[in-house]
Amino acid sequence: MDLDFTEDEIRRYSRHILLREVGGTGQAKLKAARVLVVGAGGLGSPLALYLAAAGVGTIGIVDDDVVELSNLQRQIAHTMASIGTPKTASAAAAAHAINPGVTIVQHATRLTAANAMALISDYDIVCDGTDNFSTRFLVADACVLAHRTLVSGAVLRFDGQLSVFRPHLGGPCYRCLYPEPPPPGLVPSCSEAGVLGAVTGVIGTLQATEVLKEIMGIGDTLAGRLLVWDALASRFRTVKLPRDPDCALCGPQATIRDLSAHAETTEAGPGQACAI
Ligand SMILES: [Zn+2]
Repeated sequence: MDLDFTEDEIRRYSRHILLREVGGTGQAKLKAARVLVVGAGGLGSPLALYLAAAGVGTIGIVDDDVVELSNLQRQIAHTMASIGTPKTASAAAAAHAINPGVTIVQHATRLTAANAMALISDYDIVCDGTDNFSTRFLVADACVLAHRTLVSGAVLRFDGQLSVFRPHLGGPCYRCLYPEPPPPGLVPSCSEAGVLGAVTGVIGTLQATEVLKEIMGIGDTLAGRLLVWDALASRFRTVKLPRDPDCALCGPQATIRDLSAHAETTEAGPGQACAI
């Protein structure tokens, strides 16, 4: 591990380095890490900004959308000036404005069955900040097949959820919790049901915190637990998530061996919902 920091880096990260659990070693781990943020929206915005601010060395951002006025109520990486421009470029510029010392890789494309394995394999940790079930299941499947840790967050209305899935290191996968996507129309989307903007900021920031913990190997992982937040009631609770021995993705009799089942859904455009 290269512990050679410049004077500016030592000054920039001094509040990290002061922490006994982080120190120079933890900061060097952050610098060496490669994290992929899928979706540059309400969750992806705080993720990209906090990961860049924290000094995560390489941050990939996947999104094929452009910034719209209705995004600005919650997607804090974007501004009025970036309306009409790709979200990847806007988020990369915002992250770089905070910390020019990190590398931001823009993937201005939709994540599909054809490109997911190559994209995800190129990173250590993947954050799901997507707004539809088809991409959410694609990300979850690709992460298990590529043995990558997935930090998953979701929001709807006044509620948020968060967990870490890394069955290659123990614990359940996303499909242990949700074996199949819900039928179309069962779970409303944020564009149908709404979301309080700040709720996305909280869950995205919690995701960023879990990513930093996973990189540095500190604290208690959320693997095997689901954090549920009810913002109206101001109540957090944690639910245990057991591994499903019959899971089609991570179980011993797994039937999902590639992404071929996603070939149609992910080419057909966005899915219908945003909650996990
Ligand atoms: Zn599983």
